[in-house]
Amino acid sequence: MPLASRVVVVASNNEHKIREIKEILNGFEIKKASDVINDFEVEETGSSFCENAYLKAKALSKYTNDIVLADDSGLEVFALNNEPGIFSARYAGSGDDKENVEKLLKNLQTIDDKTARFVCCMAAIAGDKVIQKEGYVYGRLIDKPIGSNGFGYDPVFVPEGYDKTFAQMPAKIKNSLSHRKAALFKIKRALEDIL
Ligand code: IMP
Repeated sequence: MPLASRVVVVASNNEHKIREIKEILNGFEIKKASDVINDFEVEETGSSFCENAYLKAKALSKYTNDIVLADDSGLEVFALNNEPGIFSARYAGSGDDKENVEKLLKNLQTIDDKTARFVCCMAAIAGDKVIQKEGYVYGRLIDKPIGSNGFGYDPVFVPEGYDKTFAQMPAKIKNSLSHRKAALFKIKRALEDIL
């Protein structure tokens, strides 16, 4: 059944994310969670990025009949059994980016293989359809943080084909390579197919 609405409500109030989503999902009207519900918060109890993204989308869909979109993302280090993975934001316990990076570098001290990837899963619910798409950016971790742009693990992540960390790159370049962008393009194609 075709959906009448091309309105997408994003399960976030993060202005940076909303702006990025607006740029890629052009042709859709984008709203943020606070446009439909105050204090939107969901416990991320899933065991994968997509489960967590779906939990957030499902929770938001209770407050609107428009399309809802949620994401979950993090860093997977192959030699550490894909840690920190879904626990990326709270890897060191505190939720502090600097402490997370310090813990990661400590755990990697004796490991040669420093390859890793950022993963983002985007989940959209449109009527009775659920779409889940993952995007990735592959790269390697370096021994010491460099650069002051970005957030999270950006100062220690060098994407494949580059010799600078994400934190040394202007936001525009980082965003053009990002796992979020890759997932979002897949979501856009899937939404266009069902609308
Ligand atoms: P969220 O799902 O976007 O809230 O991200 C969860 C956590 O993953 C963040 O707190 C960061 O630690 C890490 N992360 C996700 N995406 C990025 C990125 O693009 N750069 C650096 N760290 C990221």
